Amino acid sequence: MSAAPQLTLKPGRERSLLRRHPWIFSGAIAEVRGAPHSGDTVDVRGDDGRFLAWAAYSPASQIRARVWSFDETEIPGPDLFGKRIEAAFALRRAVIPPETTNALRLVHGESDGLPGLVADRYADTLVVQLLSAGCERWREALIGILREHSGCTRIHERSDTEGRELEGFPASTGLIAGTAADGPLRIVEHGIEYEVDVAAGQKTGLYLDQRDNRARAGELAHGREVLNCFSYTGGFTLSALAGGARSVLSIDSSAPALELAKRNLALNGVEAGRAEWLEADVFGALRKLRAEGRQFDFVVLDPPKFAPTPKDAERAARGYKDINLNALKVLRRGGLLATFSCSGGVSPELFQKILAGAAADAGVSLLLRERYRAAPDHPVRIEFPEGEYLKGLLLERL
Ligand code: SAH
Repeated sequence: MSAAPQLTLKPGRERSLLRRHPWIFSGAIAEVRGAPHSGDTVDVRGDDGRFLAWAAYSPASQIRARVWSFDETEIPGPDLFGKRIEAAFALRRAVIPPETTNALRLVHGESDGLPGLVADRYADTLVVQLLSAGCERWREALIGILREHSGCTRIHERSDTEGRELEGFPASTGLIAGTAADGPLRIVEHGIEYEVDVAAGQKTGLYLDQRDNRARAGELAHGREVLNCFSYTGGFTLSALAGGARSVLSIDSSAPALELAKRNLALNGVEAGRAEWLEADVFGALRKLRAEGRQFDFVVLDPPKFAPTPKDAERAARGYKDINLNALKVLRRGGLLATFSCSGGVSPELFQKILAGAAADAGVSLLLRERYRAAPDHPVRIEFPEGEYLKGLLLERL
């Protein structure tokens, strides 16, 4: 028996751990022994007393513990974290050729065996999120290892997500290592340059998961009139323009995002004449475009997360149906709709059903041309399906 505090599970509740799913919900726990504090390592045992996992205890959260290791000999600490971080970096080296980009997700939480840890590299700057009690407990060690292995001397923290609050920690943000850059931070992705605001932008600055889907949209946009809804700092807009789109109308509700999008356009030397910008709520804007009789031959819908968990799926489904239905109403025959959902609570099957419902209501027939997922620096472990949150469909209106 180890000296670590112990969690004993209720009978039958060891099943998900035996399948290597890393979350232990409060309702699965029969007994907590040894009074662990937030972030402490606990020894997780089945009802029969057998070892199941080492996990980080999180008394404030419904996810009461997150697994560091299923191997009894792998005691959580700097050695194990160093090994995991090195493996995560090696995976990126294997799947993303360096010429693709200098902005990528180096560590993706549970999917890299490091629950709650996110690390994104933007050129010479690393942006980290410590989103779980376990990561907070090991803050200094994790940041030190990330700094050493990445070679980045400048580190920003962006631990300001809802998930961190659920773990019982206030937001924590700002420069935590190195000195502030003396100018805007710039990165390149598939040959397109972006200025990134890691301090005040959304997420850690860019939606890196859409990298390859942006590039694909660029290939599809040639000669088309494009409508890019939820454009943020111009990702799909720039790809479409670089790919030879006739015009792109970009809609977002965030004024700072649109400002940055316009700067990004200039940065890439794209003439501003083909780009139109609209600061608006997409739900209303689509209705207005339709009322005005506007039509497009390529619509991109990349909304924010409507359903973080399956509990929100029904409300989210109504939101997805609404925007997709209205997008179909401004899409010409022969036009393309690239539609995405980054809601963990909406499965790919449900998302496809929502689209089928929207098509039926719009009275159109759609051909399923392509399916999309997150870029490979957002790996998916088969035992952790929550990691597969981003899905997309390319549909052609017949
Ligand atoms: N496609 C973008 C990422 C989109 S993220 C890229 O490739 O970079 C979602 C965007 O939707 C954010 O920029 C956010 O500001 C915007 N947004 C959220 N709710 C909105 C709404 N109701 N109407 C318009 N924009 C919205």
